[in-house]
Amino acid sequence: MLKYNIVPKPNRYTKEPGSYTVSSGTQVLCAKEFLDAGNYLTAYLKTKPREDEGAIKIKKAEGMAAESYRLRVSNEGILIEASDPSGAFYGAVTLRTILMQAKKQNGKATVEGLFIEDAPLYKYRGVQIDDARHFFGKDIVKRVLDSMAMLKLNTLHWHLSDDQGFRVESKLFPELTSVGAKRKYAGFEGCGLEHRGGEYFHYYTQEEIREVVAYAASLHIDVIPEFDIPGHTTAILAAYPQLSCFGESVEVACENGIFDTILCAGNDEVYAFLDTLFGELCALFPGKYFHIGGDEASKGHKVWEKCPKCRALMEENGLKDGKALQGLFMSRVNEIVKKYGKTTIAWNDCIGDGFDESIICQFWHPFNRSAVRAQSYKRDFILSPDAFFYLDISYANIPLKKTYSFKPSKVGFSKPNQRVRGIECTHWSEWLDSEQALQFAMFPRIAAVAEVAWTKPELRRYKDFHKRLDWLKTYWRKTGVYYSRLEKRKWNVKRVPLYHLGADGKEFRISEQLRAAKENT
Ligand SMILES: [Zn+2]
Repeated sequence: MLKYNIVPKPNRYTKEPGSYTVSSGTQVLCAKEFLDAGNYLTAYLKTKPREDEGAIKIKKAEGMAAESYRLRVSNEGILIEASDPSGAFYGAVTLRTILMQAKKQNGKATVEGLFIEDAPLYKYRGVQIDDARHFFGKDIVKRVLDSMAMLKLNTLHWHLSDDQGFRVESKLFPELTSVGAKRKYAGFEGCGLEHRGGEYFHYYTQEEIREVVAYAASLHIDVIPEFDIPGHTTAILAAYPQLSCFGESVEVACENGIFDTILCAGNDEVYAFLDTLFGELCALFPGKYFHIGGDEASKGHKVWEKCPKCRALMEENGLKDGKALQGLFMSRVNEIVKKYGKTTIAWNDCIGDGFDESIICQFWHPFNRSAVRAQSYKRDFILSPDAFFYLDISYANIPLKKTYSFKPSKVGFSKPNQRVRGIECTHWSEWLDSEQALQFAMFPRIAAVAEVAWTKPELRRYKDFHKRLDWLKTYWRKTGVYYSRLEKRKWNVKRVPLYHLGADGKEFRISEQLRAAKENT
């Protein structure tokens, strides 16, 4: 049994003799390149990292695996070792979690002797936020980043454009926000709630994007923006209607759904537009990856099949239908993304033969099963199966225990040479219109996601996780995080009130969830 409650569970943890007492003035000696780790600890201890001396030492060790760390507490002091800055940072995260739980007396905390040796299971440990359907803004996103850092989650997948809004300022295409970030009202179609009415107009300035990206970097979190194409582009087409097949005028979508007016695949102007826009956007996000969506375009494929320009391109390339044309479209856009030094990520709806193998595939739903299986040996996959990790789906459909029970073999990735880069949970925001609603969907299931992503499967036990989670809940309560109390509730799924169509077609109403949460408090 671990003395301290650490989520995700460390991969090796032993009790050692001795103890060390830390006070708020305890100095932290920190290698220069590990300053983020030093700052994370000293923010808690109310000191500043030093280069000369300190009872807590963060030192560089050679030859340790990426993102791994060692932490030793003895009578002599506290030592964190790592080979890279992320490893040092995670050592600091673990120590800060321990300090919060250590026995306190007269403002001093005594940490019992221990040795932890820890490294992540997956290199990709992601959380997706959808800022397009409803907009959260930089302060809420920063608070999500704080929670992610504490759970050693290292990637924010930031969904920034969709039918309901384009959310990043473009200086080259200003109508993307002056028109595309504005809708007449923000609807809740599908969940039984009435919209509140009133114009909904929100976007991030480029300065705000840089601020969030820099904040994430200080917490060792990569930011991957997603600009969804060729479908989910109503907001772009409201601003620039000439980019669709027939150029009809459309309005930014107020309600949810899948729309058939999408970017034209046969119009050179579309590729020129994407080249210029992605050039501008890639410069805002210094990370290696760029997500171009590619999901839910099948209604648009029917329009492509009627469009003279798209048909000409299909004939020229011997393509039989709109689906095949999307393969060509994605490959062309991948060339644009590569030109700006990024690696493309796309959803599994559209993955198939002929795609450059450098494209990373994000699996969310078992479409294209045989292509996914074949491709899983050739390219990296990020697993976000909606049945486990779509956290905007109700607790009736995805209880905490289900998220915790995930293993890749449950979605067809059972062979060791299938390339799983990592996992990610998503928070689509059709019905998540506030920080409270977002937190309610996210917590506590995000803790299960973190442990699945970090801890070796053979060390995971739900009961033990649940015990450690109790401490986190106390922490969340103190810090104003609105987590769901519903994870132990037994549902009669047939009688659960409607909310939205989940992965398995059952529905649930969020207002009922919130009321039940209050009752359970
Ligand atoms: Zn077309």
